Amino acid sequence: MLHSLTSRIVFVGSIVSVNLVCLSGLLLSASNSMIASFEWNTHSQKITEIVSETLSDLREAQAEERGYLLTTDPSFAKDFDDRVAAALSKVNMLEQLVQDNPVQHERAQSLQIATNERIDTLTKQIALARQGRFEEARSRVILGQGRVDMAIIVQKAEEIRQTEQEQLIAREATAKAHVSWNRKLVLGGCLIIVLLVNGLLYLVLNGMRRSVSLIVRAMADFGNGNRAARVDDKMGCTEFDMLAQGYNTMAERMDAAMQAQEASDHKLLQANAELKRNNEAMELLGEMAHRLQAARTSTELSAIICAFVPRVLPNIPGALYTYNHTTNQLERIAQWGAIAVGCDVLHPSSCWALRLGQSHAVSTSGGDVVCQHVGKDVSIYHCEPLFASGEVVGLLYLQSLVAEENRFRLVALVENIASALVNQNLQKNLLEQTIHDPLTGLYNRRHMEESLNAEIATASRNNTALGLIMADIDHFKHINDEFGHDAGDMVLRTIANEIQNSFRSDDIVCRFGGEEFLIITASHPLDALVQRVESLRDNLSRLELHYNGRTLGKITMSFGIAMWDKSLPAETAAIIRKADTALYQAKKDGRDRIIIA
Ligand code: GH3
Ligand code: MG
Ligand code: MG
Repeated sequence: MLHSLTSRIVFVGSIVSVNLVCLSGLLLSASNSMIASFEWNTHSQKITEIVSETLSDLREAQAEERGYLLTTDPSFAKDFDDRVAAALSKVNMLEQLVQDNPVQHERAQSLQIATNERIDTLTKQIALARQGRFEEARSRVILGQGRVDMAIIVQKAEEIRQTEQEQLIAREATAKAHVSWNRKLVLGGCLIIVLLVNGLLYLVLNGMRRSVSLIVRAMADFGNGNRAARVDDKMGCTEFDMLAQGYNTMAERMDAAMQAQEASDHKLLQANAELKRNNEAMELLGEMAHRLQAARTSTELSAIICAFVPRVLPNIPGALYTYNHTTNQLERIAQWGAIAVGCDVLHPSSCWALRLGQSHAVSTSGGDVVCQHVGKDVSIYHCEPLFASGEVVGLLYLQSLVAEENRFRLVALVENIASALVNQNLQKNLLEQTIHDPLTGLYNRRHMEESLNAEIATASRNNTALGLIMADIDHFKHINDEFGHDAGDMVLRTIANEIQNSFRSDDIVCRFGGEEFLIITASHPLDALVQRVESLRDNLSRLELHYNGRTLGKITMSFGIAMWDKSLPAETAAIIRKADTALYQAKKDGRDRIIIA
């Protein structure tokens, strides 16, 4: 009922007010009684006074009359009439004043009658005296009736006065009782009000203290980390309900703000950790790129890849393939992790990544087409093609998927490896260029010198066969002169190709200069070598070459063969000279022949 604090305070005030009003009413009523008592006292005193004054006037009138009768001096009776009139007037007044009290009224009437009778007697006696009939008047006085009458009057007056005195005493007692009662009433009323106010204030303050303590406890709990701490918002007091609701709303908002802050901190931490990981990865990639740039051989490149890729993409086995232009195939040059044994060599068409020119990842078994080069027991993998200037340079095969957050690592890795492969291809090409003759593609003289030195060392160390063939096209100048320099170049390329095909891959065929060729072979004893050269000579003689629709005619070559033996000096020049001497002999003997030194 009393839900609000204001209404409780108003209620306490109302109770106090009602008590004060009641107390005031009682006090007022007591005061009225007292006032009435005082009024009655005054009334009684007035009656007593009038009674006394009546008696006094009557006595004085009687004294005046006696004095006149005794002295016959009229001056003694000069105030007689006034006293008589005053006594009559007062006794009449008395009769009026006591009308409210029937007993006293009866006495007053009786006193009035007695007084009138006495005044009448006195008036008659004084009238006799004034007529000079003093003795007659004195004789009446001497009779003593007057003293009797006066005694009766005094008795009646005393009765009235006595009664009034008694009433006065009774009313004083009543007034005193009222005063005492009022004092008790005031004390008792104040005590009741104080108790009542204290009781009600205790109830109100107790309710407030309980509510405040609930809110303070919830706040302390919240401050100590219990973010679910809330206050019951049904406290039974409107103001505290509102305070509790306000606190709960504030706590909800603070909790939400703290949650948002925590989420943001968590994200920041994650971002920082991610950034740190990315920085580490970037540093790792930088180190790898630095080493890849310095790599000279594919073996070195492979070692760098095997050392760094598992660190850049942890827990992902894989392999690196490089594209070989000559064979149009991709050859595996590196592999890391527990990779399922796959192809050493693969054709570009067997890989969807190379065919589509983009990443090809299979995340679930049967979820996408699987590359032919992938083993049957592999269901999840990632193929990343390596391109440079729009051309395939390699393939990165990963036997797992790359997580989204590691994508940038993969991108950087692919770029680094692709540029390393391009770099190595360029190096390889440069190297090729430095050791190959650009027109024929055969090794050049410089490379021949280096190889021959090595072969001589091997042959002398192992005591194995080493043959040297010096070959020269016969009358080549004529071809140039007859068909032009380009036709001569074409002949040089054709013959170079024929010679290369006539020997094994580990034999070293080089262009010695102009239209002269030199072949170093460690795989043939002399007779086998002669047979092989004879076969070449025969093939050449049967070549039918055309240029711009014209037949170039029969092409022949002369050959000088020299075999290494320990009697020769270790320098290359010695065996070359020996072969050259044999060639010279072949030319001299009519060309298109073989001479063994
Ligand atoms: P011989 O049978 O005595 O060896 O006669 P030959 O004409 O082959 O020998 P010669 O030394 O007189 O001529 C060699 C010619 O080869 C001269 C030169 O112009 C030509 N020649 C050298 N190098 C090239 C080349 O790269 N291209 C072309 N087309 N001709 C070349
Ligand atoms: Mg020649
Ligand atoms: Mg020559």
